[in-house]
Amino acid sequence: MDTSKGLENIDGVVWFDGQYVDWKDAKVHVLTHTLHYGLGVFEGVRAYSTTQGPTIFRLKDHTDRLFESAETVKLKIPYSKDEINKAQIEVVKKNKLEEAYIRPMCFYGSEGLGLRADNLKVHCIVAAWYWPSYLSPELYEKGIKVKLSSYTRQRGNKVSRSKVNGNYVNSIVALNEALEAGFDEALMLDTEGNVAEGSGENFFMVKEGKIFTPDVEASLNGITRKSIIDLAKNEKIDVIEKKISPEEVIQSDELFFTGTAAEVLPITHVDKNKISDGQRGPITKILQSKYSSHVRGENILFPEWLTNISVSYTHLTLPTNREV
Ligand code: PMP
Repeated sequence: MDTSKGLENIDGVVWFDGQYVDWKDAKVHVLTHTLHYGLGVFEGVRAYSTTQGPTIFRLKDHTDRLFESAETVKLKIPYSKDEINKAQIEVVKKNKLEEAYIRPMCFYGSEGLGLRADNLKVHCIVAAWYWPSYLSPELYEKGIKVKLSSYTRQRGNKVSRSKVNGNYVNSIVALNEALEAGFDEALMLDTEGNVAEGSGENFFMVKEGKIFTPDVEASLNGITRKSIIDLAKNEKIDVIEKKISPEEVIQSDELFFTGTAAEVLPITHVDKNKISDGQRGPITKILQSKYSSHVRGENILFPEWLTNISVSYTHLTLPTNREV
């Protein structure tokens, strides 16, 4: 799949309101409500190449979260979870992808504008394309430098911790602030001054052999976060959810981020401070390897996390208006 001419020029198909449409025809009008006000919900999902063929990681959990985000902002998705699951599987298949980033999104259309518009239809898309690595591969070994952000994550507000389109303005400005200052990523605090998360990643700290992570009152309830907690517990490593201050972060032994796109990413510096010896820590390395092998279908501990697309839905007939 060639993405070099921009994401709008890929040869393929997008699932759009129940139909498989040509990628280049998957367009909306400039008066699309969500484009103006950011009220939409989305997910970021990944399919990995495994010996059994392409396999989607935690498909059901991502779809459940999409519907939870929608419920939080009272957006009614006009499809069932099953239909959204099938669409994700089919876009990977129809676009002949071995590995994929999958993007489901539900948004309001251009039926009306203004905050009081009450005639809006909810539209849904699912696109999938090849997106190999979120950051340059060497950083997964070397680790990244993060900047404590001047932008905060609001604590206790369910909307701002959901996967709602408009929330990502805050993440992008925080990320850009960090990049402009020469860092790789932002680390945002919550409105009480404790550590929350990165622009698109959950945060973990290791101290004296134990793992600590902030609760999810000011951050997204990350699916990679949950997976890492389960994988760590399986390694008999204690995982404790608690408020974490920036001072504790600087005194820690290891730090890492987790996310569908970022996977497990070591953090070696916070502002000017080196964490421990400034190298990826041993627990981070173990969890990186456990996560990476699990998503690729090796050393499977939780088979329910994996949806193999070549076998799982072959019996289903899918709504489609054209064969590709
Ligand atoms: N926090 C934010 C703000 C995110 O956008 C993401 C990416 N979805 C994460 C954390 C990590 O969540 P997940 O592991 O479910 O991808």
